[in-house]
Amino acid sequence: MTAQMKQDGAADSAGRLSLLDFSQEEMAGFLAQLGEPRYRARQVWEWIYRRYAADFEEMTNLPQGLREGLAAKATIAPLEKVTELLSASGDTLKRLYRLPDGQTIESVLMLYDRRRTLCISSQAGCAMGCTFCATALGGLARNLTAGEIVAQVLDFARYLAKPEAEPQTDVERPTTVTNIVLMGMGEPMHNYENVWTALRRLTAADGFGLGARAITLSTVGLVPMIERMADEGLQIGLAVSLHAPNDELRSKLVPINRRYPVAMLLEAVQRYIEKTHRRVTFEYALMQGINDSPELAHELGEILAGLLCHVNLIPLNPVPDSPYQPTSAAETEAFAEILRQRGVSTTVRLRRGIEINAGCGQLRRAAA
Ligand code: SF4
Repeated sequence: MTAQMKQDGAADSAGRLSLLDFSQEEMAGFLAQLGEPRYRARQVWEWIYRRYAADFEEMTNLPQGLREGLAAKATIAPLEKVTELLSASGDTLKRLYRLPDGQTIESVLMLYDRRRTLCISSQAGCAMGCTFCATALGGLARNLTAGEIVAQVLDFARYLAKPEAEPQTDVERPTTVTNIVLMGMGEPMHNYENVWTALRRLTAADGFGLGARAITLSTVGLVPMIERMADEGLQIGLAVSLHAPNDELRSKLVPINRRYPVAMLLEAVQRYIEKTHRRVTFEYALMQGINDSPELAHELGEILAGLLCHVNLIPLNPVPDSPYQPTSAAETEAFAEILRQRGVSTTVRLRRGIEINAGCGQLRRAAA
């Protein structure tokens, strides 16, 4: 962690650093500057990652003077909740956060039967320019620090641990985050270092402790980073946002395709599978009259044939004033059926939280 990264976003207006940007070693160094012994870092670490403390005052095994000293110099809750929206069914909760420098990001919690899946952001804005995406409209503001990525998870972990403090619904409240998808704002592989620092902290046994297999990283296809991820040695799932089976159409929807065309992307995915023996998910957002024809379904089935993969068809979340509209349920099912008949494992993902702007970047844009 460089001083520059901390300056980029983690110090608040009072000059307090976010302890979430520190490794345990760096935290020990920070506490040593305050004259504290090494074991204090372990105590603070546990309060943050095991007990989800949001305030130094909760750290009752620290002397009062130290709690006050820490509160003057540091923070463990760097995200300010600007607004939150709960879907009518109570199973989708979206939060808009303000970062210390005023940038805003979104995270969405989805409650399934036994999973509590959190979709988090990796950047404020995004540079990838996908033409159907609300986040793309404002461009990239900046990368999130590792601490800002981790902070989203800890904030929802607190929410799930203390449901009485949050909006009440009939939905049973599980008590922690069980799955994480990096599918919120930003391209995680465009902020590779900070994202992987955050993922290691979230999966570390002495950190948040989530199993790597419960995490999925979604990319539009930054080929060199897919190669790099194959060597990371963590069983994080890879999802590739494909959205079209050929270069002509994909370059219109996902401009990065001009640099990393479909064939190059699929070769990288193939190498990833050979190295990791892990199944890769292809995300395909179905857009009415754009990429949802039976011919394109056949073409997609053809290019994916024989690959250890799964296709997730996603009914598009409509963006206001956008020419892209979701494909009908019947046409979505027909598209899925063609893929299945061609032997490609396919599911249609549930669309969650449509009435609360749960699509990537939509709440941020509405609040702008
Ligand atoms: S779809 Fe994802 S990668 Fe594309 S612009 Fe939106 S946030 Fe960025």
